[in-house]
Amino acid sequence: MVVSDCIFCRIVAGDAHADIIYSDEQVTAFRDIHPQAKVHILVIPNQHFVSLNDAIEDVPDLPGRLIQAAVEVARRTGIAESGYRVATNTGADARQSVDHLHFHVLGGERLSPRLA
Ligand code: 5GP
Ligand code: ZN
Repeated sequence: MVVSDCIFCRIVAGDAHADIIYSDEQVTAFRDIHPQAKVHILVIPNQHFVSLNDAIEDVPDLPGRLIQAAVEVARRTGIAESGYRVATNTGADARQSVDHLHFHVLGGERLSPRLA
């Protein structure tokens, strides 16, 4: 399902620009528009799910596919060996700001020791 007012659906559909690093039939990865580290990529399902809460019952293997793509993105951007962080924000307390499931891949520099 494509949600027409969802910016990430629009990126998958090619209706909005993004610097795409990786894509296949299930997953798209692109650079975050406001990077929080030297390398900051978002890995998303091509299908619209709001968050892990939404995706996990419908497509139980999807989080694994997104993590696989995150590792591929780390390789392609040269941070697989230096190290990287993979994170997903779910809901208000985590400050999820785009309601289309996404994993952040952060690296390219020494990251904060704090996760929260
Ligand atoms: P969240 O806060 O939901 O975990 O992360 C959403 C991320 O999406 C933020 O890091 C934000 O910078 C990024 N973002 C929001 N709109 C766009 C956009 O139009 N293009 C790209 N490439 N990233 C976006
Ligand atoms: Zn969407």
